[in-house]
Amino acid sequence: MLAKVVIANRGEIALRILRACRELGIKTVAVHSEADRDLKHVRLADESVCIGPAPSNLSYLNVPAIISAAEVTDAVGIHPGYGFLSENADFAERVENSGFVFIGPKPESIRIMGDKVAAIKAMQDAGVPCVPGSDGPVGDNTEKNIKLAKKIGYPIIIKAAGGGGGRGMRVVHSEAALLNSIALTKQEAGQFFGNDTVYMEKYLETPRHVEIQVLSDGQGNAIHLAERDCSMQRRNQKVVEEAPAPGITEEQRQKIGQRCVDACIKINYRGAGTFEFLYQDGEFYFIEMNTRVQVEHPVTEMITGVDIIKEQLYIASGAKLRYKQSDIKISGHAIECRINAEDAKTFMPSPGMIERYHPPGGPGIRVDTHIYGGYTVPPHYDSMVGKLIAHGNDRDIAIARMRGALDEISITGIKTNIDLHKEILGDAAFQVGGTNIHYLEKKLGID
Ligand code: ADP
Repeated sequence: MLAKVVIANRGEIALRILRACRELGIKTVAVHSEADRDLKHVRLADESVCIGPAPSNLSYLNVPAIISAAEVTDAVGIHPGYGFLSENADFAERVENSGFVFIGPKPESIRIMGDKVAAIKAMQDAGVPCVPGSDGPVGDNTEKNIKLAKKIGYPIIIKAAGGGGGRGMRVVHSEAALLNSIALTKQEAGQFFGNDTVYMEKYLETPRHVEIQVLSDGQGNAIHLAERDCSMQRRNQKVVEEAPAPGITEEQRQKIGQRCVDACIKINYRGAGTFEFLYQDGEFYFIEMNTRVQVEHPVTEMITGVDIIKEQLYIASGAKLRYKQSDIKISGHAIECRINAEDAKTFMPSPGMIERYHPPGGPGIRVDTHIYGGYTVPPHYDSMVGKLIAHGNDRDIAIARMRGALDEISITGIKTNIDLHKEILGDAAFQVGGTNIHYLEKKLGID
């Protein structure tokens, strides 16, 4: 096992990684910005190094500072968490070239999945179902593009190959808007992502977001840990996630899961990863692969009993996958609510000092958070301050437990979106399950 790991992240995920390291007897190094001296994991880590001022580009994205921190502390590996440098292939390469273990996939895999055209090509080759589309970049031949769009069938969506975070895409409803939309998306893509390659896909109108969690050791062994439904979204940001996805049969699960496993083996993928799909009318359509641990990983841990972060650490240490597919059994249902420091109605961020914090408890309740009474949420980073996870023998019990936990939890001093979660958990359509990705925005009247 790795002897010492640098945790190159902050907040709840840094604490989550620290806890997994402690369980495995791995020493930890917290690297933090000047604004983050009071983070819980910084206080708990064996060592800590300040890597720069508050702005992320000077600290959590400061590659030389992070690598130097690993050097001066004699660390062996670097865990990037999610966000920040976690899907930066150049960073992964610098880490490995500096003689450290990158706790994640090989840089080549990150690079392929960071280019959506290349990712779709790799997935098609591996037999993963994709959205009908241009099968590659859209060129300059206007007649060809008009023909192609007609063949796919309107509405279509133009997407940037280098896009991310829900930016760099445009829906086109008719031929009249096609050429202009291609030109505009190309221009924006060049500006935002430094790559003006765009491609075309059928626009699915009422899909759900269903994703498959995988673990692969890069030594020919891979498994899937079933699916999560993350359809409850606002502005492409997930708000509530659950596992398993309502209405997905065991047969569907094993079929799509096996396709993802086959793809992992084919591309010799190493580490934890997520295949994101749109799911509509009983069919899965691949949209992208995330080559890191995800915010919503706990719901999968709750229903499978597999500790995804620990498995990342085992895989990074060179161990063979410790589970076979037949070891993975789904037990019950889990739901996660992302708790953000923001106004529940206007969604305006609400940083500041937390006066009091009372966590909820009871059977099936898990809280992943770094906050404590007296902690100040800095204004510089993402507004997510924690995750509330409820598990039960079935979905109704998980919902009931989550509703109880939302009533019990108390955070004062800052605004939070807890009331929004109470509204969602009490919503009749949510309680039935299977709402699509537009449901929350429609409900909130921000469509
Ligand atoms: P990003 O990397 O920016 O998150 P994705 O490819 O994952 O981009 O797409 C983000 C979101 O955009 C999806 O969750 C979905 O809501 C919407 N979207 C993307 N492609 C399609 C499509 N072909 N049809 C309908 N919606 C789509």
